[in-house]
Amino acid sequence: MKDTFDVFCLACNILVEAKVVANGFGEWRSDAVNPIDEVDCEYHGDHYSVAICRRCKGPFLIREARYGIPGEFETVTDEVVLYPVPTGHNLEGLPDSIQRSIAQARRSYSASSYDACALMCRRALEALCKNLLAKGKDLASRLADLNTNGRIDARMLDWAHGVRLVGNEAAHDVEAEVTAADARDILEFTEALLTYVFTLDAKFRSFEARRRSRGANSS
Ligand SMILES: [Zn+2]
Repeated sequence: MKDTFDVFCLACNILVEAKVVANGFGEWRSDAVNPIDEVDCEYHGDHYSVAICRRCKGPFLIREARYGIPGEFETVTDEVVLYPVPTGHNLEGLPDSIQRSIAQARRSYSASSYDACALMCRRALEALCKNLLAKGKDLASRLADLNTNGRIDARMLDWAHGVRLVGNEAAHDVEAEVTAADARDILEFTEALLTYVFTLDAKFRSFEARRRSRGANSS
């Protein structure tokens, strides 16, 4: 059993050592046809570990796929971090202009360029407003317009203003420095907002179309 794992910590934004605090087996399967042959046969099993980041004390859940023959050898064929779920998953249905900004925001975050990350998140919001034809003299009023027209709800508007304000500081205040934690948060808010406006919306429309084509009763 491993006592530690080297994993990329999203909160610390670097490769860290995580200390195992709990572990156990999940599914286990032997190739033996008869139970009596199990000692000589290959087996496959999943092993789970809960580990804690040594820097920020955040938790990880890691699954190892193991394969071996009892008493002879065992090898780990796959290792996956199940939690936390990495960001950077594909946001489907995003217009190109927004996709570019969010991709640059992620790259900036990964490179520890937090000011640049904030600027790119703010630019993604600008692109969002442009794409949805929001009206207003500045970003704040264009975001409010999206809320008035029902494209984003009140809570999303709060997130958007948070992103806008940090982005403004990064752009105009030469003394201000965007922290890693703030950059990470506004990146998450921006992605959540875009997921809501584009990805889930597109998914819902295809869900409805699928049901219609099956002749499902909508009432
Ligand atoms: Zn950490």
